[in-house]
Amino acid sequence: MYNIELLEHKKGAEGTTLSVFKRPDGFDYLPGQHVVLRFMNIKTGDAETGMRTFTIASSPTEENIIIAYRNGISEFKKALQGMKKGDTVKMFSPVGRFVLPEDKSSIVMIAGGIGIVPFRVFMKYSIDNDLGHDFVLFYSNPTANRITYKEEFDEFLKNSRTEKTNNNIQIVNTLTKSAPDGWREEKGRINSRMIKDRINDVSGRLFYVCGPVDMVKDMEVLLIDEMGVDEKNIKTEKFTGY
Ligand SMILES: Cc1cc2nc3c(=O)[nH]c(=O)nc-3n(C[C@H](O)[C@H](O)[C@H](O)COP(=O)(O)OP(=O)(O)OC[C@H]3O[C@@H](n4cnc5c(N)ncnc54)[C@H](O)[C@@H]3O)c2cc1C
Repeated sequence: MYNIELLEHKKGAEGTTLSVFKRPDGFDYLPGQHVVLRFMNIKTGDAETGMRTFTIASSPTEENIIIAYRNGISEFKKALQGMKKGDTVKMFSPVGRFVLPEDKSSIVMIAGGIGIVPFRVFMKYSIDNDLGHDFVLFYSNPTANRITYKEEFDEFLKNSRTEKTNNNIQIVNTLTKSAPDGWREEKGRINSRMIKDRINDVSGRLFYVCGPVDMVKDMEVLLIDEMGVDEKNIKTEKFTGY
């Protein structure tokens, strides 16, 4: 167990905060792993109120530990959002098997909202180490201003398959509620047509799905029942609580 110290809160996409913490000496983890944060000082200090799980949103190649989350109304979120520079929170050791696969040939990532967090880490880690992964990301949000990491992903795309990196990255954004004038990407929920348009043969692909529980379940049905993807080629991470 660690006590991690807040350095700053950064504003992410609409309704999203990135809280940056000092990385404890020797703290290591795999890209995509998650931690439990615990506040001991919330009045109703029981575990259910005081603890939440978060994927570490910074890559192990980065200096600090970052937690990226949708702002909330729970006692936990009030405590997290209310932290001041220098305040500390308890953090358990990183766990989880939803991690960047070594297979570099072709990884398909499907994210709903803040479920983008592990995929941002996959890409950042792979780029920083020049591992040469081939990524296709399908990223669903209700509206354009909820797209987290927009600027950073534009940069990833600009550098994809250039002298700067061996990685090949494709990103497909879709908006489910409303799209701004001139929106040129997809609209509506992620569906088999969107996937087939970009991926000829799904059989050899690894699929990673992350987002709210219902979204992940819907994607499993889509991939297995509608598209015939082998279950063993699908990995999922459900962000409970949304
Ligand atoms: C393995 C794993 C990894 C996870 N990683 C992450 C992560 O990286 N980032 C992350 O954000 N979550 C992550 N989660 C989910 C996280 O643990 C919390 O469950 C989630 O953030 C919800 O937090 P909360 O219960 O404090 O509720 P809140 O955030 O307070 O939300 C509770 C409910 O209220 C709604 N709500 C929020 N604000 C308002 C408002 N202003 N008005 C009306 N309704 C509102 C929310 O939509 C939600 O339905 C992860 C979960 C797991 C299991």
